[in-house]
Amino acid sequence: MLEGKRVRIKAKDRIFEGLVMPSATDTLVIKLDSGYNVGFKDYELLEVIEDEKVVVESPELERKAGLPEIKIISTGGTIASKVDYKTGAVTSQFSAEEIVSEVPELAELCNIDAELLYNILSENMKPAYWIELARGVYKTLKKGYDGVIVTHGTDTMSYTASALAFMLSTPKPVVFVGAQRSSDRPSSDAAMNLICAAQAATADLGEVAVVMHATTNDDFCYIHRGVKVRKLHTSRRDAFQSVNYPPLGKVEYPSGKITWMAERFKRGERGLELRDKLEEKVVLIKFFPGLRPDVLEYYHQEGYRGFVIEGTGLGHVSTDWVDTVKRVCEDSVVVMTSQCLWGRVCDRVYDTGRYLLKAGVVEGEDMLPEVALVKLMWLLGNYDVDEARRKVGENLVGEMTPTTGYCGKVL
Ligand code: GLU
Repeated sequence: MLEGKRVRIKAKDRIFEGLVMPSATDTLVIKLDSGYNVGFKDYELLEVIEDEKVVVESPELERKAGLPEIKIISTGGTIASKVDYKTGAVTSQFSAEEIVSEVPELAELCNIDAELLYNILSENMKPAYWIELARGVYKTLKKGYDGVIVTHGTDTMSYTASALAFMLSTPKPVVFVGAQRSSDRPSSDAAMNLICAAQAATADLGEVAVVMHATTNDDFCYIHRGVKVRKLHTSRRDAFQSVNYPPLGKVEYPSGKITWMAERFKRGERGLELRDKLEEKVVLIKFFPGLRPDVLEYYHQEGYRGFVIEGTGLGHVSTDWVDTVKRVCEDSVVVMTSQCLWGRVCDRVYDTGRYLLKAGVVEGEDMLPEVALVKLMWLLGNYDVDEARRKVGENLVGEMTPTTGYCGKVL
């Protein structure tokens, strides 16, 4: 087992030395001292250099007077990960000293404290963890920190950001940040995203945001509203895009210059408040041609009282669903969103939509389906079904864009 060991090999008449990385195939992958990974199929192993220690320099953290105080809470994901070259495993490197030693520019921007809350991939997140995180952020802000950065896996980052946006009214920035490529890789976006996140966390902002690369270059990041953003690419560094609302602002790199681009909650605009109850029996159902309404019956019988449907186009499902929807609506909240993502649900244009509205469905306006899901979890955790049904159609924290435009509604 060579993984995690430092080796010297001969291949193509040259000598290579480096750390053996995890590899899913029989190719030997070595991280050279230049930082690049190279794969070898034909090679001669010359030497295994035992007990090579990788020392991370940890400078003593000096607090600089006058700089904002920022707390970084880590939940895991690629951004907090590095391959531990001794073991080959991906581990979190997470004291404040370690972060600053990795990204020394941070020390120029703010005084940092760090806390490792979880070290998980974000597909393993669950509502109970959102609640714990919301409590952690609340306590941190109550202590007087000027802003909080939450590092998070990118896959479900917008769910967690939305959950915090509903649970926590914040007077200060709560900035989620992740990375598409881990800090071991030459193309990593981790450091730049973190620096931009620190700029946003110290800025004139009073809401939950997501900061990630805006383009595939290292030129600027966007500050997205937490309830208006989605990961729209599996691997590109500019995977995150604001949907149905402009990014709140952009942070230029490396200058740190922030340009605001849309209306936002400003620092100090809202008070600090936590309402951390969530009802987990809420489900998001994606409609497809032929899907039978039994799926609604099933969840209803299981005690679910919150349903978000990702319908087609303006917000439709087959007319075969109308009777079931009507029954379910009697004691539950059913919200219609659209698989189009872009645009606004309008169930008043076609017959199917009108039947659904009559059956009791609430139009989710221009909310992302997953945001509607989290919103309904929060509403049903805090209000009875009738109140939740009323509030789900209201704009609470910027998750719906007020408009007088298409469908003629004023929110
Ligand atoms: N799937 C993992 C996650 O979302 C890794 C991807 C990432 O961190 O971006 O946590």
